[in-house]
Amino acid sequence: MVDLANILFDNFGKVITLLLITALAIIAIFKVNLKLDLNDLLGASKIKHRKKAQHYCAHMEFRKIQNNMVQVSFFESPSGTNTWLCNKCGLTIQHFDQERQESDGTYWLEHPDVYRKNIKKYNYHAKKSL
Ligand SMILES: [Zn+2]
Repeated sequence: MVDLANILFDNFGKVITLLLITALAIIAIFKVNLKLDLNDLLGASKIKHRKKAQHYCAHMEFRKIQNNMVQVSFFESPSGTNTWLCNKCGLTIQHFDQERQESDGTYWLEHPDVYRKNIKKYNYHAKKSL
């Protein structure tokens, strides 16, 4: 860098050399900042998509057992904790409301088109959150 500065100084003079070095320094700093900002933006976008995926997650699935549709919850409470964790989307909650989940499941069984739309949105946001 010093040799390059000496060569530039001999050929172009002090002012132009200083201007060139300053411009290179500004470009270098700007590039580093731009990279950091892009990483921050990507991280924030992934967090946003994960939250949306958790919003659209049904936290349950339906299985057909002997011609009956049965709701199977994805929530489970890891041993030693009071929280409930959805195995599909990773949402943690403090209180598991079984009645509400069963009524949601009943609603989705009666409105499969709404359920399918939700799953589509979940899949879209889950992919973007990776
Ligand atoms: Zn979930």
